[in-house]
Amino acid sequence: MRTCWINGQFVPESEAKLSIFDRGVLFGDGVYEVAAVFQGRLLDADLHLARLTRSLGEIGMPAPASNDTLLEVMQSLATTNGIDEGLVYLQVTRGEAERDFPFPTTVKPSVFAYARPKKLSDDPNAAGVAVHVVPDLRWARCDIKSTSMLAQVLAKQAARAAGTFEAMMQEDGLVTEGGSSTLWIVKDGVTYTRPLSSDILAGITRDVAIALAIDVSMPLVQRAFTVDQAVAADECFLTSATSFVLPITRIDDTVVGNGTPGPVTQRLREAYLDRARRLTTV
Ligand code: PMP
Repeated sequence: MRTCWINGQFVPESEAKLSIFDRGVLFGDGVYEVAAVFQGRLLDADLHLARLTRSLGEIGMPAPASNDTLLEVMQSLATTNGIDEGLVYLQVTRGEAERDFPFPTTVKPSVFAYARPKKLSDDPNAAGVAVHVVPDLRWARCDIKSTSMLAQVLAKQAARAAGTFEAMMQEDGLVTEGGSSTLWIVKDGVTYTRPLSSDILAGITRDVAIALAIDVSMPLVQRAFTVDQAVAADECFLTSATSFVLPITRIDDTVVGNGTPGPVTQRLREAYLDRARRLTTV
């Protein structure tokens, strides 16, 4: 029986209930985080909670608890549910109120978290995944990690229907990001990823990967690239908290590079795994 945490209490998942009047249900009025669990320990949870604090601030919502408390809850969920490799999901919504669009006057956020196992070090997708190009139909504040995600649901469903692992979202020919990941290309030894703006989420894994690349003097430029440039790239890869670094070896019908994980991608994935092992060894 799995245990989750909701509004201050650990309960069996089957007993966790959210009101039909919760604004998360009615409006998608909430924000969330997903952090990896590696070797039984949370990875970069401090960075995820800092981003949660920012997301909450951007939508004018008070923090439901201190970050120390949330950190303890998240680690405890990983431990009690016996997660060696996996993730902890944390969501905060504006809470339960009569259905009316503006903020309710008395705000008591709803908050819950749960844990799930997922293969991270031995991910079969590390052999390479395919992506499907779709239009980016999202709103103008993609920097907020909002639970309103209909556009990503449609993008990732289209990707799955096309027999691929992830969507490559584009706007005016420029790649924005994956349905739930940051996208990167490598051309002539230089790694490119889109600069931060309200067009993309500031990926935690993106930040870490940039720092790792700088550490080993890997040439890296934060610049937007087109779908055509991705298709013609030597390597393409994605990053996310629960995928780490995954090679993209096909974009729709076009094989990327020679169709196998490239050297830069493999080096970054190894560096990411090494760092994760180091940080979670107690
Ligand atoms: N972009 C989007 C749209 C995402 O949903 C995610 C996953 N949360 C990412 C990028 C990657 O972010 P992170 O590295 O923090 O998981």
